[in-house]
Amino acid sequence: MMTGNEYKESLRKIHPRIYYMGEKIDCVVDHPMIKPHVNSAAMTYDLACDPMYENLMTATSHLTGKKVNRFTHIHQSIEDLVNKVKMMRMIAQKTGTCFQRCVGFDAMNATFITTYNMDKKYGTNYHERFKKWMTYVQENDLMIAGAMTDVKGNRSLKPSKQADPDLFTHVVEKREDGVVICGAKAHMTGMANSHEMLILPTTNLLDGDQDYAIACAVPVDAEGITHIFGRQTNDQRRLQGDLDTGNSEYAIVGGETLTVLDHVFVPWDRVFMCGETDFAQDYVARFAAYHRQNYGGCKVGNSDVLIGATSMIAKMNGTRKNSLIKDKLTEMIHLAETMYCCSLACSYEGVKEEAGSYYVNTLLANEVKLNCTRNMYEISRLAHDIAGGFIATLPHEWDLNNPETGKWIEKFFVGNEEYTARDRIKIARLLENMSGGTALAESMHGAGSPQAMKVMILRESNVEQKEQFAMDLAHVKL
Ligand SMILES: Cc1cc2nc3c(=O)[nH]c(=O)nc-3n(C[C@H](O)[C@H](O)[C@H](O)COP(=O)(O)OP(=O)(O)OC[C@H]3O[C@@H](n4cnc5c(N)ncnc54)[C@H](O)[C@@H]3O)c2cc1C
Repeated sequence: MMTGNEYKESLRKIHPRIYYMGEKIDCVVDHPMIKPHVNSAAMTYDLACDPMYENLMTATSHLTGKKVNRFTHIHQSIEDLVNKVKMMRMIAQKTGTCFQRCVGFDAMNATFITTYNMDKKYGTNYHERFKKWMTYVQENDLMIAGAMTDVKGNRSLKPSKQADPDLFTHVVEKREDGVVICGAKAHMTGMANSHEMLILPTTNLLDGDQDYAIACAVPVDAEGITHIFGRQTNDQRRLQGDLDTGNSEYAIVGGETLTVLDHVFVPWDRVFMCGETDFAQDYVARFAAYHRQNYGGCKVGNSDVLIGATSMIAKMNGTRKNSLIKDKLTEMIHLAETMYCCSLACSYEGVKEEAGSYYVNTLLANEVKLNCTRNMYEISRLAHDIAGGFIATLPHEWDLNNPETGKWIEKFFVGNEEYTARDRIKIARLLENMSGGTALAESMHGAGSPQAMKVMILRESNVEQKEQFAMDLAHVKL
């Protein structure tokens, strides 16, 4: 297993083509915009090397029998599923933001099951190939970006019906030694600071979409790949000092890219699906369920920090002992713990798959994420309510540091006299950072927009059985 520093050094040895603000980035580890995201991912490495967190952060590989970082593990028990959620809550309490490594983790677990099922039906050898690649990932403790979401073009058209065939990732050439793919993956969390990406289809596929049924592993710096790093709310504050960013060491959300795949060659031993359209829907649903499970872990850990910041602001404002403030804080805790309950429930209700690994309860995993799309907004609304308007009107850090204006800011931004204005501003900036635009949009759309969960909830919840319960009690016979 690598330490955080070894992970950072490993990133210096790869050379992805990444652009931000019109310029090519030389090294993500040193770049002021990407550095905080690297720090956050490095936490997943450092904690795994700390004996205090060994139980949550590490597991025994069923492929090699060796101890591995849990983010490279294929779940072997219900305990593994539960520990994943607890691990994510714990890391999120330390970073206050996304640590990016879960998407690849979930893609790997979904691919493990899907390749097994495809081989069983078609006699292919995807599963063995995948296990070989997984062993390489575990042995080198790699960070893998989970690359599902295509750019999708016209949302009402299937991949093969789009005006531009590249709007969904697809195979453009099959060669003796591998395939060549074109397309683009959008909103790629942690891609800029990952070693490889695991590409999978983004939607169910129909006859005629065979070229779009492609899953494969590709190094982030492979020939033909260009990454364009996305902007976030208040991102330029990182170039102007630490205080105004709110969480200068770890940033906001994951640091997402648009990743363009322009005639990228993938050798056959890295191809894990090629043409099996009938497995795309199940594959996507499995990845999504594993990924939706996470939101009651990481978002609850982040909420723990946000609730703490809100409680501190109330103390600094002199309102913390008021019963209405206590009630609002209690509501925030209730909303967060509800998401945690759902994550634990979908893990405890997990099942063993024929492939040998463990899979979460799909219905309950979708409940986690649907709650998240609402609860995180309400938690943030309550945080803003309690904090007061100054979180939206605070002056620049440089004005605080300028003696001409700083003396007035120090004097007039004091609330409860037990705390300094500077400390009050620091906590306010953290609260602003964690409850703002990019963070909330991620709670809404990360792992799928709410409607995607509703489709799964209706599909999984056996409404016919519920009708029967009602008819039995009402003595209705049809
Ligand atoms: C911060 C962040 C990080 C992410 N990280 C990753 C990642 O690491 N890996 C990854 O693979 N993905 C990632 N995603 C992508 C995420 O899964 C998608 O954002 C999500 O699936 C929604 O897709 P979209 O953004 O294209 O929105 P759209 O599909 O455009 O959806 C927008 C709205 O339109 C609705 N809609 C869509 N299609 C239709 C239709 N045919 N008819 C009617 N309504 C429709 C949706 O329900 C939604 O309400 C991330 C997203 C965010 C925001």
